[in-house]
Amino acid sequence: MPVLDWSSSARSRFVCTVCRDGRDKRRIVSCEGYDVYRCGACACLLCHPVPEAGEVPRAADELRLRDHLEMNAALETQCREVEALIHRSAGRLLDVSCGFGFSVDYAQRVCGWEAVGFEPSAWGAAGRGQLGVDIRRQPLALNSGSSALFDVVYCSGAIAREQDPWRFLHALVSYLKPGGTLFLSTPDAERIRPAYPPAATLAMLSPGRHVALLCADALAGMLRVLGFESVHIDSAGSHLAVTATRGAAAAPAGEPADGFIRRYREYLAAVQRSARPDSALHRGCVYRLYRSYVDALDWAAAAAVFDESLIAEHPKLDDIRSFAAFAQRFPLCVAPMTYCRALQTLNDQADYARAARLFRAAQALCRKKMEVEPDRSVVEEELLWRAVLHEGIACKYAGRRREVVAIARAILAEESAAPEPIRERAARELA
Ligand SMILES: [Zn+2]
Repeated sequence: MPVLDWSSSARSRFVCTVCRDGRDKRRIVSCEGYDVYRCGACACLLCHPVPEAGEVPRAADELRLRDHLEMNAALETQCREVEALIHRSAGRLLDVSCGFGFSVDYAQRVCGWEAVGFEPSAWGAAGRGQLGVDIRRQPLALNSGSSALFDVVYCSGAIAREQDPWRFLHALVSYLKPGGTLFLSTPDAERIRPAYPPAATLAMLSPGRHVALLCADALAGMLRVLGFESVHIDSAGSHLAVTATRGAAAAPAGEPADGFIRRYREYLAAVQRSARPDSALHRGCVYRLYRSYVDALDWAAAAAVFDESLIAEHPKLDDIRSFAAFAQRFPLCVAPMTYCRALQTLNDQADYARAARLFRAAQALCRKKMEVEPDRSVVEEELLWRAVLHEGIACKYAGRRREVVAIARAILAEESAAPEPIRERAARELA
C-alpha cells in the first residue's frame, strides 16, 4: 500500500487557489511523491506543486472503467442524489464530468427528464454506446450564451481535480437557469487526518489527480460570492454533498421521494437486461441488485438474481502481484459478492461450515485487493473486519469453539486494526 507520510510539517509559500492567501502553508501529508498543504486562512487542502496532467495509459484506463462498472461507481448514491434534486415532472439536467453517465441515464429513464452529460474521456464514449444517453465529448467551457441552460447542474467529484476552482464554478453556473439548482460533491478536506481509514484517505487524496480538497465553510463562501442565497451542505460521509440555489427558492432537503429503493432496483434490472451478458456493466448490475436484496434480508429476491460466477469460494491468490493480474482472474466485485453470499449462506441457508469458508475467502480477497490496488479498495477496507467477525459467528453456530476463540482474540488484540463497533460485537457475540 502506498505510504501516507504524516511526519513532516515543512512549510512552503504559494498562493491558495481558493482564498488567494499568499502566506506560508504547512504540509500535512505526503504520498507517492505528492505533497499536500493546508491553507491557514481557509483550511482547504492543496497539492503543491500541482501535478502535471499526464495521459492515463489506455489499458490502465480500461481497467479503471471496468472497476467502476463492476463495483466502485457509487450508483445508489448518485441515483439518490439525482432524484432528490428533481421535484418537477419535466426539466433538464446537465451532468458535468459525467463519466460513464449513470446519473444522466437515471434522470432520463426513471425521472423522465431531458439529460445531457459532458465527458471528454473515453468513459463518456463507452457510456453513450452502452447506455444510449446523450454524452458530449467536451470539457467544461464557459457558456457565453450560445449553449442551452438547465434546471439542474450536477457535478460529482470533478472540482477536486481543478487547478482553478473559481473558474470551474463560474463555468458550471453559466449553464444554470435563473432559480436553478447546482449540485456538487467533493472529498471533505476535514476528513484528511491520520486516524481516518487509509484506503478511504487515499481515495480522497487520489495522489496525482486531486489538486484541491475544499472544506464546507470555504465552499459555502465561494457559492455565496457567486450569488447562491441558499446553500445546503451534507458532510455526513467522506464527501461533501452541496445543493445550492439562486433566488428565493430554498435548496432541496436532499431526500428522494418514497419508493426510491424500488425504483433504483427496477433501474438496475432494466440496465442489466439491456447490457451484454458478458459485460462489466452486466456484472455490476447483478452485484448491486444482489447486495441490495441481501442488505434488506430479502433472501428469495437475492437468490433469484445471484450469479455463481461472481464469487470465489476457494480463491487462489498467492501468485497475484498486481491489480491487472487480480482483474484477469476475478470479477472486480468478487470480494463483496463472496461476503454477501456468505451472509446468505449463514442466515438463510444455515449452512455454517460453508458460510465460515466463504467469509474466510472474502477476507483473503479483501486483503489482496487492498494490497494491489489500495486507493480503489474502500469497499474492501470496510468489509474486511465484518467478514472476520461473521466467520467467528458462523464458527460459533457450527460448534467450532477453538476457532471462535482464535477469531475473537484476533479482533480484540491491541494491535488489531478492527474498528470499534466490530470490537464491541466480538466482545458481545464471540466471548
Ligand atoms: Zn485558502
